[in-house]
Amino acid sequence: MYLPKISKNISCIEGDGIFAGEAIPKGTIVFYYSNNDVYVSKKEFQYLSNFEKQQIYKFGVEDESGNWIVTEGDANHSCDANILSIFVDGLYCDIAVKDIQIDEEITIDYSLFYSSFPWKMICRCHSWNCRGIVGSGFAVDSQTQELWHSRISEAADRIHHVRQALFSREDESARALTLALRSRHSPMIFPYIKFSLIGTNPENGHAIHS
Ligand SMILES: [Zn+2]
Repeated sequence: MYLPKISKNISCIEGDGIFAGEAIPKGTIVFYYSNNDVYVSKKEFQYLSNFEKQQIYKFGVEDESGNWIVTEGDANHSCDANILSIFVDGLYCDIAVKDIQIDEEITIDYSLFYSSFPWKMICRCHSWNCRGIVGSGFAVDSQTQELWHSRISEAADRIHHVRQALFSREDESARALTLALRSRHSPMIFPYIKFSLIGTNPENGHAIHS
C-alpha cells in the first residue's frame, strides 16, 4: 500500500497514474506490501483464467518465488522515476529518490521489478534519459545502473532524517520493515537492490521475444 496520500488521475505518460496528495521528501518510504494487498501464490496463479492472469500481469508485481502481489495503485513507469524499489533484509519497499511535489505524478522504474519471464515495452515517458525500450530479462546499461545506485544511496541516506509514516503503522509487515530499517544506519544497507538480481550478467540474461 502507498503510505502518503495519493490520488488517481489522467497521466501524461499513459492512461491513469498515481499522483501525490501531499509533498513527499526524498528518503520517504512511499510503498510497502501490507495485509491490504492481495497475495496470489504461484500455485493459485496457475489455476486462474487467462483474463485473471492478464489483470495480474497488468496490476501485480511478481516476487522471486513466482508469487504475485496485487496492490491498489499502479504507478506508471518513467526512466527518470521519482520512486525506486529496494529490499531491506529481503523486505520489498519503494523509496522516494527525489522530493515529490503535491499533485506530481509518482513514477517508478519497471526495469527494477523482478520478472520470471523476459518482457519489454516501448517507453514514452519523455524523460531526458528515456531508454526507449524498457523491460526485464536483458542487460541494463551501466549508466542506468549508476543512476539507480546513486539515487537509491542518496535517498537511503535520508531515511532517518525525514518523517516516515511507515514507522507508526501497526501491521506486521510495517513493523518488520521498520525494524529492518531502524537497525541500519548507512546507505550501504541494501544488499538486495533489485538490479543486482536481473540480467546485467550475460550468463543470467534471457533472450527477448517481442
Ligand atoms: Zn522512458
